[in-house]
Amino acid sequence: LFAAEAEQTIPLPDVIKTIKLSSNENPHGPSAASRKAMIDAVMSSNRYPWDVTTKLREEIGALTGHTKEHIVIGAGSSELLGLTAVWAALQKGNAVAPDPTFRLWMPAARKTGLEIKLVPLTEKKETDLQRMKEAMNAQTRMVYICNPGNPTGTIIPAAELEAFIKEVAPKAIILLDEAYTEFSNEPSMAHLVNDYPNLVIAKTFSKIYGMAGARVGYVLAHPATVKQLNELQPWANAGASAVSLAGALAAIKDKAFIDYCKKENAAAKTIFYNTLDKLNIPYIQSHTSFVYFNTTGFGKDFKAILEAKNIVGARTFEEGTKWLRLSIGTQDEMKKVAAALLG
Ligand code: PLP
Repeated sequence: LFAAEAEQTIPLPDVIKTIKLSSNENPHGPSAASRKAMIDAVMSSNRYPWDVTTKLREEIGALTGHTKEHIVIGAGSSELLGLTAVWAALQKGNAVAPDPTFRLWMPAARKTGLEIKLVPLTEKKETDLQRMKEAMNAQTRMVYICNPGNPTGTIIPAAELEAFIKEVAPKAIILLDEAYTEFSNEPSMAHLVNDYPNLVIAKTFSKIYGMAGARVGYVLAHPATVKQLNELQPWANAGASAVSLAGALAAIKDKAFIDYCKKENAAAKTIFYNTLDKLNIPYIQSHTSFVYFNTTGFGKDFKAILEAKNIVGARTFEEGTKWLRLSIGTQDEMKKVAAALLG
């Protein structure tokens, strides 16, 4: 209602009219419960948020069958991906990662002493666990896996991933990025952290919970590992604000909102799949909130067609190819994408 009223009186700046499909944000968030909790928490911003941090760690622990001692809180999961890479780099060596993948942690890893060994995806754009194992050597300190994968949206079946973790965890830290797991039907690997202190699972409130701007993420790991990571934080678990933490605490209990976002994402994704089918553009079945597709045979500039309609976000992750990734917006936004492309 507020937005509709504002639009009647003041022309919206172009940046607001733009449909942004570049960073896999959730167009439905934050949930009403999170918004209310954040507004209410503004007044407590004069105090350090220890109570709410602890409560959030307890709630996450309970949700995953663990305790608060298994949880590290950070300002988004990317902070914790970097922290884990720095922890791994304390023993100089190398890190093995798929290519392409989510790369934000790599500069910190390189700077602190890890050479990055990139392992190409399979023909089907899947994470090549076999070749990743082969790329490891005695100096491998960390293996990064993003599951489901970014930018591809593919998923490693749980049994296969579990077997990989069992084999590799005795040798190196496994940094498992589960930013998009909630959009898929595969389980988290959270149940393995007590058995494998080298397993570090990174999770975020930025995706299914729709709180990318609030900057809250967490790591799920063995308590001994959590202690190591906490020691690398100037102030353990203190990266997120009182307001953001209150929003996260409300979000984690809001199962109905998560179900809604998953359902909406699936419906909006189907609209985009249908559009790609009509254009004969091949794509990878996605277990996430974005789709990876190959515009080689398209013959026109996919990105420019969308940008002419103020739709931004078609991005290249493999230089020299015409594979693009587009985030999934609302159903309405994906209908606008369809209209732009199909005319
Ligand atoms: N991991 C993956 C695979 C992502 O795609 C992203 C964001 O796009 C992140 C982590 C970072 O999320 P956060 O907002 O929690 O830092």
